[in-house]
Order: sequence, then C-alpha cells, then structure tokens
Amino acid sequence: MRSYFISFLFLLLVELSFAQTWNAYHQNIVDNCTLSNTTNNINEFVAFGEKNAASNNTKYNNLVAAKNWLISKYQSYGYTDVVEDNFTYNGKTVTNVVVTKIGELYPNTFVIIDGHYDTLNGVGANDNGSGVSLILEIARVMVNVPTAYSIKFINFTVEEQGLHGSYYYANTTSLGLDIRYVFNIDEVGGVAGMTNNTITCESDQGIPNSNNEASAILTNELATSIELYSSLNTQISYAYNSDYMSFENKGEIITGLYETNETPYAHTSSDIIANMDIPYVFEITKGSAGALLHFAQANESLKVNDEYNELTNVKVFPNPIRNNRVNFMFNSANLINKKVDVKLVDILGNTILKTSFNSTTKISQLELNQFNVGVYFIVVNIEGKEKRQKVMIK
Ligand SMILES: [Zn+2]
Repeated sequence: MRSYFISFLFLLLVELSFAQTWNAYHQNIVDNCTLSNTTNNINEFVAFGEKNAASNNTKYNNLVAAKNWLISKYQSYGYTDVVEDNFTYNGKTVTNVVVTKIGELYPNTFVIIDGHYDTLNGVGANDNGSGVSLILEIARVMVNVPTAYSIKFINFTVEEQGLHGSYYYANTTSLGLDIRYVFNIDEVGGVAGMTNNTITCESDQGIPNSNNEASAILTNELATSIELYSSLNTQISYAYNSDYMSFENKGEIITGLYETNETPYAHTSSDIIANMDIPYVFEITKGSAGALLHFAQANESLKVNDEYNELTNVKVFPNPIRNNRVNFMFNSANLINKKVDVKLVDILGNTILKTSFNSTTKISQLELNQFNVGVYFIVVNIEGKEKRQKVMIK
C-alpha cells in the first residue's frame, strides 16, 4: 500500500516543481499580449459612456451594452462557458459576466481573476476600463493554455455603489465553489504626465485574519511575477474597498492590484484616456498574465495534442486506473499481432516506465508497478504512430 509519507512526498515534489522562477513557457504566452489590444479594449469600453445602474436609463442601457460587449469579446476568443450571473439592483436586472476555463488536474478548484465594469460619474477609462482591458487581454492569450487549476474570469457589476455584484456572487452564486485564490484588478491606469513605473500589490490585512498569512504569501508571489514579466517595480500595501473584500469577508485568500500614482480623476467626468497611461496598463497586463499563469499552474505538459492521437482505434481503460492494472483494446484487425510500446509519463514530462508487449488479442492487460496517486500520460506507440492519453492513477 502507498504510505501517507510517499503521497506527501509526491505532493511536496509537485509543489516544488512550481516554485516561482522565470518560466519560458509562461513568457511565450505573456509575449502574446499586445499594446494595441490594451488600447483598443479601453477605447471600446469608454465608447459606451457612463455605465451605471443607480441612475437614469441611459446609463443603465450603457451598462447593458457593455455587458453584451464583454460577452461577445470572450466568445470571440473562443470561450464557450460565458455565463450571465443576474440579480436585481435598484429595480433593474444587473449582470456579472463569468467566464470559466476548466483546469486539467483540479477542474473543481478555481482561481478567480476579477475587475468591475460599472463606472461612476463618467466613462471610467481608468476606473475600471484599465482592469477590464487587462482581464480581456489575459483571457485572450490564455484560451488554449492548459492549466492545472480552473480559472474564472469575472467582470462584476454595481461595484461603485458598494461591491454589490461581488457580494451577490460570493454569497449566492458561488456557494460551495472551491475557490483557491481571488485576484482583483481595480484602477491600474496611472496618471498621464507622471512616471508610472511602480504598481501596488495589495494583501489582506483585515478581519478575519485567518486568511491573512496566505494572502501575504500570494501577494509576494504576485509582486515577483510582475517583476519577472513586466518592466515595473512593485510595492506591497493593503487591500480595501474593492470586489476582493466580498471574498475576503468569507475567509478566501485574496490579492489585488492598484495604481501607485493615484489618479485624482476617479469617479469624475475627467476619468478619460488622456488623463491615464495606457503603456503602464500594458505592463501591468503582462505582469498579471505571468501571475495568473503561475497561480493556475499553466504547464505545457498538461496539453494532450491531437497529433499524438493517431491511434484512434486504441482504447486505454479504465480511467482512473485502480489496482495497478490497465487494459488496452485494439479496435482494428490491423492492430493485432503488433509490437506495442508503452510509456508512462508524469505531468512534468518525465518517462517513469517503459515497456512493450505484443497485441496477440483484442484486449491486452498490463500490470503496472505501484505508482503514486496522480495524473499521468500513457503513450502508446505502434509502428511509429502514437496515442497519448491522460490518465489518473488511484
Ligand atoms: Zn473601481
């Protein structure tokens, strides 16, 4: 039987393998972010005018139009799980936009990245067009990136009247959801004419304090990611008065970003593009992409590439594998009486078992050694053609 100690050791090794160093795969993804997308996103966001459910119908209609724009943006990137999370505020239906990307190893555990899309007293180029643009661009570059954990990209509504959208989501929609981290982006536009070379990373220093230490660690990781994947410096401060607090109040582990040079124009008609610094938003976007790739554990080896699935007539079962026995079914006469090479590969890409057998019958069984519980790939090779299948060993 597997000992507790061995399972623990395995987990420890997996954790160590995700220790935070510069990662070439993550860098390649970060490099797909563009300044022109950041600029276009903010331009489009501003064009809707003030987006607010608290006042007249024009501003409410702008909020609805911006919601529809967000949905079509995510869908244009290739996301299919785009949900309208509706509730009533001020007698009106208002909507959080929730986009889900499922993880390969922990599909039921979620890293949330969020930023509100409602605005107050103006178009909100900085507050929070900057955060909305950032999240859109990161969602775009990550759509086909395999991650260990699931991700939710969320644009909350009615933040400006008191965190209503995130409160509703945290206390109603997401009840029972296993939330790993919440990463909040609010007002990261900087100030035109100033040297915007630093971003403030916010840790939870409030009550309850059971989650504060984990938030401090997470926030340090955020700062490290930003320094690895952008040109910016970082400083640490405390979290307050934005959507992460709806989660912090429930004991979740949070972190967030806020501009270091603070705009004097938030919540005024002067919160316009001319008064902010879009290249600064772009740098924060790159750093935040690096952070999210780290938080959700993006890993190239999690990808099952179709080019490795030429052997469609080979079935590997059961999955999960139990009792160290795995079966291979050869659903084609051409595959009988062939030499079958089999490899077991761990999630870091290391081959941990190599063997072969002859497919004398339609179904062949292979006895594996005892391996630790976890996710692996079984790679089957027959005459140079491969099938690569992700399996769980229990
Ligand atoms: Zn805001």
